[in-house]
Order: sequence, then C-alpha cells, then structure tokens
Amino acid sequence: MGVMPSAASDAPLTIGPTVRDDLVGLEPYGAPQLDVPHPLNVNENPFPPSDALAADLGRAVEAAARGLNRYPDREFHDLRADLAKYLVVESGIPAPPEDSIWVANGSNEIMQQLFQAFGGPGRSALSFTPHYSMYPEYARDTFTAWVTAARGPAPDFALDARTVTAAIAAHRPAIVLLTSPNNPTGTALDLDVVRAAAAAQARHGGLLIVDEAYGEFRRDGVPSALTLLPEHPGLVVTRTMSKAFALAGARIGYLVADPAIVDAVRIVRLPYHLSGITQAVARTALAHGTELLSQVALLRDERDALAADLAARGHDLAPSDANFILFRTFTDRQAVFERLLERGVLIRVVGPEGWLRVSVGTPDDNLAFRRALEEADPR
Ligand code: PMP
Repeated sequence: MGVMPSAASDAPLTIGPTVRDDLVGLEPYGAPQLDVPHPLNVNENPFPPSDALAADLGRAVEAAARGLNRYPDREFHDLRADLAKYLVVESGIPAPPEDSIWVANGSNEIMQQLFQAFGGPGRSALSFTPHYSMYPEYARDTFTAWVTAARGPAPDFALDARTVTAAIAAHRPAIVLLTSPNNPTGTALDLDVVRAAAAAQARHGGLLIVDEAYGEFRRDGVPSALTLLPEHPGLVVTRTMSKAFALAGARIGYLVADPAIVDAVRIVRLPYHLSGITQAVARTALAHGTELLSQVALLRDERDALAADLAARGHDLAPSDANFILFRTFTDRQAVFERLLERGVLIRVVGPEGWLRVSVGTPDDNLAFRRALEEADPR
C-alpha cells in the first residue's frame, strides 16, 4: 500500500496498489468447476488412475518425499530420458536427444515460457480462430501483440497452407501457434500446412509452435508434427500429460524442439520450477504408458461412436481427432447447455455461435449425454 499525506489534514491517505491498466476489470480464465455426475466440459480423461498406478504413485511420491529437503533436479534428466523413450513408441520418431526436451507445469506453462523467450514488446504472435481460449492470455501476459486469421468454414474448420502463409506474410509474427488437433474444433493439421508455416517463419526468424495437447487421440494414419522436427530448427511441438495420460491434476506438459530453443526457455524459467513430486509422478505414469494408452484407444472408439450418433441425429459436426466433439445445435445453444446441465451433464459453450463442445467421457457418461441431448435439443 502506498501512503500519502492528505492535503486537508495530516491523516495519511492510503492508496491501494495500482494494477496494470490492461488488466483492470478482467476476469481470470477458467471453465466452471461444478459437482455434476457427468463433467464433460474441459476435455479431461474420464478414467482415474488404476489401483496399480495409484499404488505406484503413492510409493514414488513417498520416495520423493524423503528428498524434499533438497531442491529437485533442475534439469530433470531422468524424466527427459523417459519422455524420449515414450515418444519413440508413440510417434515412431527416432529418440529425441535429452536436450531437445523440456518439461513444465502443464503445457500452459510451456507456452508461457515460449512466449517469454520469443515474444515480448514489439513482437506479435499469430493463431487461427477458433482457437484455444488461453492463447491470447499468453500474449497479453508477455506484452506480445496478438493477431489472428480465420480457419476455413464450418463444419470442417480446415486450415490450409495458403491461409497460413498469407497471414504470416501479412504480420511477420515472432510466434505462430498452430494446434493439432485443434481445440475447440478437433481438426488435425496436414503436415503440408506445418511445413509451409515452418518455412514461412524461417524466412524472418520466427518460431512455429504446434500444440499437440490432444496428439495421442489422432486417428490412425494422421502423423504428428514431431516427425518434422529434424528438418525445421524453428519448430516446437508441445504435448501434455493432462489428457492421454489422465494426469490433469498433476500439471505436466512438455515440448520437443531444437536444443537452441530449449536453451532459450531455460533462461526464462524459474529455478526448480518442476518439483521433485511432479517429476516422480510423471515418471511413474510413463512407466504405465501401455495401460494408459489402451484407454486412449477406448476413448477414440467412444469418440467415433458419439460422432456417428450425433451425425445420425442430424447435427453438423467438425471431424474430430481429439477427445471432444464440436457440434451444431438445432436450438439456442445457451438453452441447450442449460438443459443438459439440469440433467447432470456439463459441457462447454465455446466455438462459433450455435455450436457446443462435448468432451468424450466414459461409455456411461456418453450415454447420459446422448439421452440428455434428446430432451435438451429436440429436432
Ligand atoms: N493446449 C490446448 C489446445 C488445450 O486445450 C489445453 C488444455 N485444455 C492446453 C494446451 C493446456 O493444457 P495443460 O496445461 O493441462 O497441459
């Protein structure tokens, strides 16, 4: 609190701290956290850790707890080695060197660190609407100008190389943020688009981020941008353990990129940002990777069944490579959202007017959603 003498008397006048002008009146980001039977609004994995994994996590956390008087490994060498092994299996790429991997508290923190290192005053970042709602906040918080161009029309919301390169030519952004599969549309990107964006960014020394938070849910035959890393030193692929690994509560995200990019991020990270507990949890979950990825396969099947069902009801929907589906309602979307909520099903009002996004849940959740939708959005 600043204290100033008052003009009228000697009594001190107390003035509160003055928040940044551009933050005045803003609300913190976040979807409602409501206690409902079927929470399908934030693209979580609906399956909690198995008993075996929970028990292993307990043991790993206890072992880590015995060393909590010391700061954790600032470079998390073991975790990076485990992630490299995982990516070989998951994406069929040669093992990325340890110094090309970086981990933080969720991919949100990864993005913030990338914006801190590559954005900033006098620089801009570009993405394509509709996009994940947090993106403009990374820009705002790092004083990076935020610019957008539109994805293609509904129901595909496709993004082509020409749209991306034209927007890059117009803005020459320090950072381009592509998302595959995209949130909220579920659309995966052709690697040709990523190649074109990487080449266009390389012409002026810009960074290209491909956010693959939902990468593991992509359909068979859809490649990951990880396969392009060796050819493009300005490309970063980000991933998270919040979705496929069902660890949203543990806060673990990571990136893979040229080691020079990792080195830049290491400058801006806070010291010891990744706690010893977090590192132990991540490594234990990776050791259970096979079990967790079999749940991903089940969720992909559930997604395809749900998509077929919505299409059979006559809804327009965006083809989804993710663990959620964006669909067009027949009646007012806000009313549909509320009627679903009255029936215990919480989904998300996001995307263009008239569309809603539902996360893929357990078979039981998905059935409850389908039944509730019959009443909430009659044809
Ligand atoms: N990217 C996208 C596209 C997302 O949808 C999300 C979470 N909903 C994130 C990044 C951040 O996820 P986390 O911080 O949990 O890794």
